[in-house]
Amino acid sequence: MKIYLSGKLVDKDKAVVSVFDHGLLYGDGVFEGIRSYNCLVFKLKDHIDRLYRSAEAIELKIPMAKADMIKAVVKTLKANGLKDAYIRLVVTRGVGDLGLDPRKCKAPTVFIITDKISLYPKEFYRDGLAIITAKTKRNLTTALDPKIKSLNYLNNILAKIEAIKAGTQEAIMLTYNDYVAECTGDNIFIISGKKLITPPVDVGALEGITRDAVITLAQMLGIGFEEKMLKIEDLYTADEIFLTGTAAEIVPVVMIDKRRINGGKPGDITKRLMEEFKSITKTNGVKYEL
Ligand code: PMP
Repeated sequence: MKIYLSGKLVDKDKAVVSVFDHGLLYGDGVFEGIRSYNCLVFKLKDHIDRLYRSAEAIELKIPMAKADMIKAVVKTLKANGLKDAYIRLVVTRGVGDLGLDPRKCKAPTVFIITDKISLYPKEFYRDGLAIITAKTKRNLTTALDPKIKSLNYLNNILAKIEAIKAGTQEAIMLTYNDYVAECTGDNIFIISGKKLITPPVDVGALEGITRDAVITLAQMLGIGFEEKMLKIEDLYTADEIFLTGTAAEIVPVVMIDKRRINGGKPGDITKRLMEEFKSITKTNGVKYEL
């Protein structure tokens, strides 16, 4: 397996970063999780734009132009002969000393890993997920805005640990004042009165690329859509619920905190969106040839 590491393609065992890299010492960096479907990198430009926005938000200057970053992603996929892949793109502050001072880090580290995609089991899509509400609150937007896809994922990991201990796959994270923000690695949507509703990202959620794609898709299909602040009670009484993310795509939720949603079955609008989503992954992105 070849890894792109700061300008070069290197073998997996040679793809190493320094223990002085601030990405490792302080989680000081940004990343993206991207997918390619049949030689098409889905919404690659949107992912690259979000990566650069995240970097700008933490005052990290990515040492290459967006167009070159796109080329580097494609080059790595080709080097590994991957038609369908999960792509992890990481930019760290780089090697510094043991202090926090980012000025000591002279050159950001950029790496791209492309690997086979490991999907959720089929049953999750057929039967839906049971999830919980985490006690761990989502980071305050004024402390570390969840819009920044930073390497600092401890907030999410703590909630994920709660999910695992409860025997579930995912956990809903609420804001400090108990509004629904998102899940640990996915955005959340409800269907209520035939309308699609999701919290605004300003509440404290990532601007999910799949979230955007689903909103556009719903609008194309004539499904009403609204961004609205939601409380957990709105979820308990929703007609349908689903999560969105690059790896998960659209996955139905049928139980929250042991309360059944839609009688414990994935809903019709969710199923329709799941079906239609497949077609948009065939056309929206950057193509490559192997
Ligand atoms: N929220 C969080 C916290 C995430 O990490 C992710 C990505 N895994 C998402 C939402 C979904 O974003 P996207 O659709 O861009 O993958």
